Amino acid sequence: MTESQIADNFLKIRQQIKDAEVKSGRKEGSVRLCAVSKFHPVDSVKAALKADQFLFGENRVQEAYGKFTELNDSRAELHIIGQLQSNKVKKAVEIASCIQSVDRESLLEEIEKQASKLEKNISIFFEYHTAEDSKSGYGDMDSLFVSLENFARGLYPHITPAGLMTMAPFSQDEKLVRLSFEKLRNLKETVNEKFPELPVKELSMGMSGDFSLAIEEGSTMVRVGTALFGERDYT
Ligand SMILES: *Cc1c(COP(=O)(O)O)cnc(C)c1O
Repeated sequence: MTESQIADNFLKIRQQIKDAEVKSGRKEGSVRLCAVSKFHPVDSVKAALKADQFLFGENRVQEAYGKFTELNDSRAELHIIGQLQSNKVKKAVEIASCIQSVDRESLLEEIEKQASKLEKNISIFFEYHTAEDSKSGYGDMDSLFVSLENFARGLYPHITPAGLMTMAPFSQDEKLVRLSFEKLRNLKETVNEKFPELPVKELSMGMSGDFSLAIEEGSTMVRVGTALFGERDYT
């Protein structure tokens, strides 16, 4: 995609975000846009920066590392949004401000270890499994609560548990999609009641096909790739 096409897409998506905020009685500007640049070249990221987009999402650490070190622009902020192997955590902590795809306790232990070495504080979102066809994320409340209790006990001083993330089912059935977002919103309320001392505020939900619905259901951050940068070339 050309720079001007990408600029146009940002205008269009920002307007749609605003419309969804207004429609659902949310405050304008209350939803952050995370531009998912995975599989797209560094030139697409540069075009986004020109369009005043500074928050990016990538799902593969190796790819993100190459791209964002080459970019070397301190305005760019990176979130890791894909499943993360423990041996990739070191690099992830180096380049990202947030890991949105935390799905297990052992990953938190590794993030803490690496963040502590770098004397860096990093945010995380707990990814939660809210739809039948998704494989990633914590699959039950009990295991999530074990992690939250460990935060409450002060086990992870270099990590800020800042929110929850989910992926809705890839379905044309709006009810199913909404149900998934509603589950995450309700989960956040439960978490805030049980752990009022933890700063779990963000709801990262909504992608190219469903971000307006997600905003209506309370999303505070949408992760949009295709609608901004075009189809991904996986070959
Ligand atoms: C790829 C990806 C997105 C963006 O998906 P689009 O449909 O291209 O907007 C969002 N969230 C996660 C976790 C992803 O892996």
